[in-house]
Order: sequence, then C-alpha cells, then structure tokens
Amino acid sequence: MLSKKRTIEAIDLMKELYPNARGELNYDTPFQYLIAVILSAQATDISVNKATPLLFEAYPTAEKLAQASLEDVMMRIKTIGLYKTKAKNIIKASQMLVETFNGEVPKTKKELESLPGVGRKTANVVAGDLFNVPSIAVDTHVERVSKRLRICKQSATVTEVEDTLMKKIPEERWVDTHHTMILFGRYQCTARNPKCEGCLLLDLCAEGQKNINIKKTNKE
Ligand code: SF4
Repeated sequence: MLSKKRTIEAIDLMKELYPNARGELNYDTPFQYLIAVILSAQATDISVNKATPLLFEAYPTAEKLAQASLEDVMMRIKTIGLYKTKAKNIIKASQMLVETFNGEVPKTKKELESLPGVGRKTANVVAGDLFNVPSIAVDTHVERVSKRLRICKQSATVTEVEDTLMKKIPEERWVDTHHTMILFGRYQCTARNPKCEGCLLLDLCAEGQKNINIKKTNKE
C-alpha cells in the first residue's frame, strides 16, 4: 500500500498534469449545479452539458422545475442515461427544495442527502464545489486510480476508498484532489489501456510497472 507521504507525492504529480482541474459541468446557479450533478450519475458530463440548456431554458429555478410535467422533463433530458428515473428525481428534489429549503440548495451533506436522487457522492460533489465543505467524492475514476496506485486495498468499497483518501490527504486538499484524480483517470489512467508508458507516476505505481512488463514480454 502506498504510504501517506507517497500518496501525497502521487497527488502532486497528478496536479502537475492538471493544475487547474475543475468540474466540467455547465451551470449558472447553485440550483442548476445540483441538478446537473444529479443528472451526471452514470452518465458523461458531455451528455449532461448537451441536455441541460434545453432543461434550464424552461426550468431555471427550483420553483419552476417543481411544477414541471414529467413528460416534458423526460423529453428534455432523454439523451442522458437513466433519464426516466432522473426526471422523476429532479422534479421531486425541486419540490423538496421549495417546501423544505426555501428554494435554496442546502449547505450540509446530511441535508443534501435527504433530497431524492442525491447519494453520498453527489452530496460530496455539491457541498465541496458550491460551499467549500471538505469532501472527497469517489466516482469510478477516483476509485480506479486509487486502487491502481495501491492507495487503498483492491477490495475496498467506495466508502472505504473515501475514508482512506481522507486519512492520507490533508483536508484542505480534498475538494481539489477529487477534481484532479477525475481528470487523471479520464485522460491518463483510463479504464482501458491506461497510458503507463511515459506516465509521471510510473515510479510510484506497481500496476503501471506490471503493465509495462507484460507489454515487453508480449513483444519478445
Ligand atoms: Fe495509471 Fe499506468 Fe500511470 Fe499507474 S502508471 S497511474 S496504471 S497510467
């Protein structure tokens, strides 16, 4: 397992590659960011960014979306995976925002998790990005990169990955680390064919060294 010190070295190297890592979802208001993050579960940011202009044109606020018809919302987001469930969830979440939170996005993870369609990961992303609440949201990229680098155990659950990252990384770096690891996983340490040759982290990475040795052996 990678020590605390080596984990921070790994994050620093990722940061060299992606010094200005940020979320890639488009939005104008906290409400729109919450909705975009809910829609992005198991879908690409690109697919969400394509659909949200049509959605927010008709429903820019919680008050408007709370009164929307399900059919119309489904039509506007139908290019996003799981759109039927997500359409129901964003209407219900908007109704709850209006009824319970005065139409505003709540600031705590607990309150956020009380909204339909908002799990731990979405709550972490929204609380971290909108309100600077220290959080590390573990998505597929963060989990894969953490496991390949042996920052956490291969058998770790998503919650265990999050706990391990929180133990090994200083709190003030959590939000930024989440974004940096996502870009690193999306473009360098990809799910299929990670770009191990020439990777800045190769010296720290047992998985990368194994991949390179396998390639060498196959060539011989
Ligand atoms: Fe990922 Fe390969 Fe780099 Fe390791 S060496 S972090 S597996 S791209």
